[in-house]
Amino acid sequence: MNAASMQVRGLGAGYHGFSVLREIDLQAKPGITVIVGPNGAGKTTLLRALAGLMPRAGEVLLDGDALPANDATGCVRRGLALVAEGRQLFPQMTVTENLELGGWLQSPAERARRLKQAFDDFPRLRERAGQLAGTMSGGEQQMVAVARAMMSVPRLLMLDEPSLGLAPRMVAELLAIVTRIAREQGVTVLMVEQNVRKALQVADYGYVLERGRIVAQGDSRELLASDVIRRAYLGTA
Ligand code: ATP
Repeated sequence: MNAASMQVRGLGAGYHGFSVLREIDLQAKPGITVIVGPNGAGKTTLLRALAGLMPRAGEVLLDGDALPANDATGCVRRGLALVAEGRQLFPQMTVTENLELGGWLQSPAERARRLKQAFDDFPRLRERAGQLAGTMSGGEQQMVAVARAMMSVPRLLMLDEPSLGLAPRMVAELLAIVTRIAREQGVTVLMVEQNVRKALQVADYGYVLERGRIVAQGDSRELLASDVIRRAYLGTA
């Protein structure tokens, strides 16, 4: 499967008539694209709008095909998956049950195939297949959330602050998993991260979102070295 490209033009979104995002233009090409920005900049709103979870203006194309606005199921059908902030697992269900829910649009045969693949990709989850998701550690829960999103056979995977609250070792492990998904499994990744340095180190391209607008963008290496990132996010300028 070829990795997908997403093109966003003139995206706007908000809540109760209050505008949060204005005229957002961005691209997620094969590989890893990271969006960084301060609290309240609109990063979560952007991913939710792209995933069809809320109304939006503007155009979102996946490999040239328009994605529906405010239609999450339609977006999943077209190959989009979101790992939401806070993981949103079903804590009283087992790991296997959580994963199977991620494949609800697939045929039973495809679902079984994807489940085996998930356990191959995340051996720790196979060991804990029958454990209630709510009793797992934060890092393990984040792995379930990523594996569940992969069950829908996405072409583009979006992750909202996947490293939030994880110990440094788990952050590294998680970013290694994301890297493998993008580079070996050919799934394009669009990720919001507060761990700016580590995220840009694994990414190809980055955007800085402030007060609902893109204020900087560039190759991740250039961004890491740029004044705007060093001063505002790394504290090293
Ligand atoms: P953080 O890093 O703190 O998660 P963020 O960049 O993801 O921030 P958003 O969560 O998208 O930012 O929030 C952007 C703005 O939209 C904020 O002003 C927030 O208060 C507002 N907002 C978010 N969710 C809602 C909601 N359900 N109803 C009304 N306003 C909301």
